[in-house]
Amino acid sequence: MGWGLGGCASGKGLRSGGRVVVVGGGYGGATAARYLKQMNPGLTITLIEPQETYLSCPGSNEAVAGLGDMGTLARSYDWLRRELDIGKVTARVARLDRQRRRVILNDGAEVTYDRLVLSPGIDFRWEAIMGYDEAASRFVPHAWKAGPQTALLARQIRAMPDGGLVLITAPPSPYRCPPGPYERASLIAYYLKKHKPRSKILILDAKTRFSKQPAFEQAWRELYGDMVEWVSSEKEGRLERIDAAGRTVETEFDTFRADVLNVIPPQKAGVLAEQSGLTDASGWCPVDPLSFASVYDPAVHVIGDACQADPMPKSAFSANSQAKVCAAAIVASLAGEPPPDPLLINHCYSFVAPDQAISITGVYGYSRDDGQLIVRSTGETPPHGDRRREAGYARAWQRSFKKDVFGY
Ligand SMILES: Cc1cc2nc3c(=O)[nH]c(=O)nc-3n(C[C@H](O)[C@H](O)[C@H](O)COP(=O)(O)OP(=O)(O)OC[C@H]3O[C@@H](n4cnc5c(N)ncnc54)[C@H](O)[C@@H]3O)c2cc1C
Repeated sequence: MGWGLGGCASGKGLRSGGRVVVVGGGYGGATAARYLKQMNPGLTITLIEPQETYLSCPGSNEAVAGLGDMGTLARSYDWLRRELDIGKVTARVARLDRQRRRVILNDGAEVTYDRLVLSPGIDFRWEAIMGYDEAASRFVPHAWKAGPQTALLARQIRAMPDGGLVLITAPPSPYRCPPGPYERASLIAYYLKKHKPRSKILILDAKTRFSKQPAFEQAWRELYGDMVEWVSSEKEGRLERIDAAGRTVETEFDTFRADVLNVIPPQKAGVLAEQSGLTDASGWCPVDPLSFASVYDPAVHVIGDACQADPMPKSAFSANSQAKVCAAAIVASLAGEPPPDPLLINHCYSFVAPDQAISITGVYGYSRDDGQLIVRSTGETPPHGDRRREAGYARAWQRSFKKDVFGY
């Protein structure tokens, strides 16, 4: 079996065609597939993703707190297949043969590309926390990839007795969705206040401050009193060890026993990127921000959580913005033209209750002096901002964003 096998073509002379393979059908990859085709309908686009249905992390904190059902998180690739003639291959990529510009699938089949877009998301640094590994995550969930992990954490919170402690460990930066752990704490607090009001939430953080902190802390005080406690690494020191069976966390200075333990581990680029020699010592993929081409291979573009796009945060919104910039650069490069100067945007909402939200926004340009992305402007909801109005925007964003990526 093989798709698009044949000689490699690249550079000038491909004004109307070219084979682009996209690996990973999440927010980065699906956006790239869609916009590559829309920007140049002459391209042949193959999207390789092992799942038939993608489950969105945005919205999954609501599912954890029993406020939304998992069905609303699901999107299929049918629209992309049907409306844009994108070839969806349901398979996992086992490895890349970058020299021959081929992607090798788990069953040994090969797919040839002129340009490859890689958006494999994150994987976890299982070795980073003593006592917490993939086996432990089957009963002490991370819930940092949507699916069975989300459902497991939701069940544990539902089963917890009133008066129990939910302990969330928040990872060091950089990681997927910087405000995500604090949105999760807020929505769990909403559930507990209603159903188990004597309970507590403790966030043990590897950091000394966090995204949208003033607005989160104001909302916690107003909505949940002292139910949510955030403890900085300055106070408790490093997370030393986890006893998953006993749901116990040891820091440098203390030991905590939880009724529900949610460990969000330190992260790195998806293992395929690592195994393909596209990561550096940081564990993430360095790229040229003009085109998101890997600094190690100009025919491979890495977007989304897996790439280093500082100062952009790792979010679905960033992945979507990077995918469009990357698509424009690939279309230009296959026509033998230089990439256009990029302008990227991140806008990230966090719910602090089902009808209240806060947000942060950033606009990023390119500095020709140092070849890096730079912040052009940022802003966030002030502590006393209109959280109800923001919640309306957030709901509208959740709906329209999925349409932008998956077409419905
Ligand atoms: C709880 C939570 C809440 C969040 N809320 C928000 C939010 O409100 N707003 C926001 O902007 N962001 C949010 N995010 C972040 C967002 O989910 C990620 O930043 C986004 O999914 C990144 O997109 P991606 O394409 O890089 O990775 P993903 O969306 O994870 O997609 C990666 C895809 O690659 C596939 N893949 C991996 N390896 C292979 C392989 N070898 N072969 C083929 N396919 C492969 C995977 O199956 C997966 O489908 C949240 C995250 C979490 C955890």
